[in-house]
Amino acid sequence: MHADISFDRDHLWHPYTSTTEPLPCYPVARAEGVEIELEDGRRLIDGMSSWWSTIHGYQHPLLSQAAKDQIDRMSHVMFGGLTHAPATELGKRLLSLVDPKLDKLFLADSGSVAVEVALKMALQYQQGIGQQDKTRLMTIRGGYHGDTFGAMSVCDPVNGMHGLFRQMLPQAHFLPRPKTQPGEVLHPEDAEALATAMAQFSDETAAVILEPLVQGAGGMYFYGASYLEALKAHCDQHGILLIFDEIATGFGRTGALFAYEHTQVVPDILCLGKALTGGTMTLAATLASDAVARGVCQSEAGVFMHGPTFMGNPLACAVANASLSLLQTGEWRDQVAAIGQQMSEELAPCRELDEVADVRVFGAIGVVETRRPVDSARIQAAFVEQGVWIRPFGKLVYIMPPYIISAAQLSRLTGAIQHTLARPELYR
Ligand SMILES: *Cc1c(COP(=O)(O)O)cnc(C)c1O
Repeated sequence: MHADISFDRDHLWHPYTSTTEPLPCYPVARAEGVEIELEDGRRLIDGMSSWWSTIHGYQHPLLSQAAKDQIDRMSHVMFGGLTHAPATELGKRLLSLVDPKLDKLFLADSGSVAVEVALKMALQYQQGIGQQDKTRLMTIRGGYHGDTFGAMSVCDPVNGMHGLFRQMLPQAHFLPRPKTQPGEVLHPEDAEALATAMAQFSDETAAVILEPLVQGAGGMYFYGASYLEALKAHCDQHGILLIFDEIATGFGRTGALFAYEHTQVVPDILCLGKALTGGTMTLAATLASDAVARGVCQSEAGVFMHGPTFMGNPLACAVANASLSLLQTGEWRDQVAAIGQQMSEELAPCRELDEVADVRVFGAIGVVETRRPVDSARIQAAFVEQGVWIRPFGKLVYIMPPYIISAAQLSRLTGAIQHTLARPELYR
């Protein structure tokens, strides 16, 4: 069976694309390990992990088996009034991996929903503990937290969707993007911005939400742990909850199981998603401290007001359990370290290219920032011709490959980046 390309072009939305003038889409026949096989037989080495998710590679036998075993028992039952072993096992596994302070778990069906859940928890918590004025959110510029309304309201106001939906969006307070670089002490401008914002807005702020250390889709930007430590001190002082969105950074990508482990800070609420099922299907989680949960339940409603139809989907939970058991072998640590090391060495020569503004690597995330935006369709085609799947946006050409990638496969990715970025005709 082949994908009907012309039907696709005429009727299917793809992420962030025009339906009247769609960019080309490549039909995929199958994917295995680190390779995506197109219908025409071409095999592409995957540099994207299908947006941070397929950390163990495609069709990992343990994950597929977990799905098959579970589907023969039950794919789904409602979570209202019912529970099941896949969910309780997943809860135990996740809570054993995070700081003991986090001990309540909401199983959501996508990352954006996990963020909505986190924001609602924070607002209900403040109401529950009698802080009726704390109804606003604070974040840093350059963030990305998803596409639903609450999530959009805390995405970067410039490159996010604020202009478009201004009338409908709750107004968050935006701190500047942190200047504090990885490994450095708090930048004086960040210290000042934090102090100013807190002096002005702490009374009305329920929570600060941000991606710790790595901003993903908002610009692939890295910043230092000392920023988060300073922020946490302010939050504690002013009774503001701290929400870390680790939907992209979770499950080993930065070299620690969770990015917050690189810091002295444990958030009050933690959002996880993307790699939770090893990229097999959609599932996300919002973890909260006991204090947050108790506050929520003291609010007017007395309960937490959220409950998706597919909450705690057993099939997704079973696959997530298999993915976590793979992570528990600890092999990812060496894999992520080796990928980081190799990307640092092999992307460094890109610095010599006229069109390249910056090269940065953190964990198994490699970023080359260009001076001019790339021509998306043409650069995509150029990468496919070279047998790699890399999907740049704007001035960012970046890779976060599956952890199981071999050194030779990774060299194909870095080689293709270096070669392609040297071609001036691929920029806009
Ligand atoms: C992808 C992402 C989300 C949204 O997750 P979806 O599953 O796409 O809804 C939220 N926050 C961060 C940091 C992400 O990378």
